[in-house]
Amino acid sequence: MKAQEMQTDFDVVVIGGGPSGATAATDLAKLGRAVLLLDRGGRIKPCGGAVPPVLLAEFEVPRTVLVCEVSAARMIAPSSKAVDMPIDGGYVGMVDREHFDEWLRQRAARAGAVRRTALFDHITREPSGATRVHYRRTDDAAGRDAPLESVLVRAVVGADGANSAVAHQEVPGADKVKYVAAYHEIVRSPKNGDGGFDPKRCDVYYDGRISPDFYGWIFPHGDTTSVGVGTAEKGFSLRGATGDLRRIAGLEGAETIRREGAPIPMKPLPRWDNGADVVLAGDASGVVAPASGEGIYYAMTGGRLAAEAVDEFLATGDARALAQARKRFMKAHGRVFLILGIMQRFWYSSDKRRERFVSMCEDKDVQRLTWQAYMHKKLVRSNPMAHVRIFIKDTLHLLGLVRA
Ligand SMILES: Cc1cc2nc3c(=O)[nH]c(=O)nc-3n(C[C@H](O)[C@H](O)[C@H](O)COP(=O)(O)OP(=O)(O)OC[C@H]3O[C@@H](n4cnc5c(N)ncnc54)[C@H](O)[C@@H]3O)c2cc1C
Repeated sequence: MKAQEMQTDFDVVVIGGGPSGATAATDLAKLGRAVLLLDRGGRIKPCGGAVPPVLLAEFEVPRTVLVCEVSAARMIAPSSKAVDMPIDGGYVGMVDREHFDEWLRQRAARAGAVRRTALFDHITREPSGATRVHYRRTDDAAGRDAPLESVLVRAVVGADGANSAVAHQEVPGADKVKYVAAYHEIVRSPKNGDGGFDPKRCDVYYDGRISPDFYGWIFPHGDTTSVGVGTAEKGFSLRGATGDLRRIAGLEGAETIRREGAPIPMKPLPRWDNGADVVLAGDASGVVAPASGEGIYYAMTGGRLAAEAVDEFLATGDARALAQARKRFMKAHGRVFLILGIMQRFWYSSDKRRERFVSMCEDKDVQRLTWQAYMHKKLVRSNPMAHVRIFIKDTLHLLGLVRA
């Protein structure tokens, strides 16, 4: 039977209601598809919550959803040298994931998606060719002991985050993903100016003691602040490093509200679909930018592209359409991911290089182009000479011909 003619409960089930899943569900519902949005609920996603303005524009998120707008970053080298990078004519937005994700899920429901609080279990196929998705409700006391229920659908979006159960069960290669382990503590923000704290500035620590291969951060969120570190190095004490970071930054005595960690995938998976009825989005597909660890914008982009691909699949019955999600994502962002990956491997590999990297950030061209690229996800083409100057300076730094 053709996919378009099957009798099912929903056209598509989106598994996971984080930024990627909620975006996919909203877009599919707006396209007139019958959507079930399944999220297990009950946990706030550990996240620094920094988002670029382009996210607000592209995904129609009002500025009122932000808890804070940051106007500068301070890069701190192993020697404690600090370089301030003011954002000229822009900002970095901060979201609290507890409220941001729920806002996105409510928007999906307003667009027509049906919400269900449930834990995805597994997928089976019917003789008709339809897809049966099995899950357990988690919105009552029964939790994992709740009976298995199921729905019949034509397509599945796997947006259930890093370590995605959908990816592991359905998409070959998903078990090979490497992760950065990230951990942060939410603390009560000090008063403006207390111990040098600035509620409008993100501090980023490039220091082997804080992270041997990534960085440590202090991201202000109004009343609270996220202090955290990431690393791919097994056995490195994230809690110990976060404690050190808090001490260095004068946040040792700040009240701790939550301690939590989660993996960040390091590389897009080689395949995002199973060639039949499943496509992945967001962390489940491995899309977090190397070097920065930025994942929210890319998760929402992945969700949107998954929705587009599923809509094409539902319209034509041609499962090859599902592969378009990855193709379109990599066409738009693959080059930036590649460059950021090289940057991370090179600049984050020793304290000597971290020192040079922070020195490079003093350069006004570097600052302007970094912020433009972050905020708008586009390289500035209006001033090609700035790119040439950066390339030359970068090469001099790489060769060690410029002192830190
Ligand atoms: C400590 C830390 C700091 C970070 N800081 C930033 C930052 O400052 N800026 C940034 O852009 N990115 C940051 N990231 C990355 C960012 O959080 C992720 O890339 C982003 O959340 C991915 O969105 P997603 O929707 O793909 O997955 P998630 O946000 O993980 O959402 C997955 C959803 O699926 C649900 N789910 C999972 N399993 C199941 C199941 N079996 N059944 C049903 N539902 C399920 C979960 O409840 C969750 O709601 C950070 C990550 C970490 C760990």
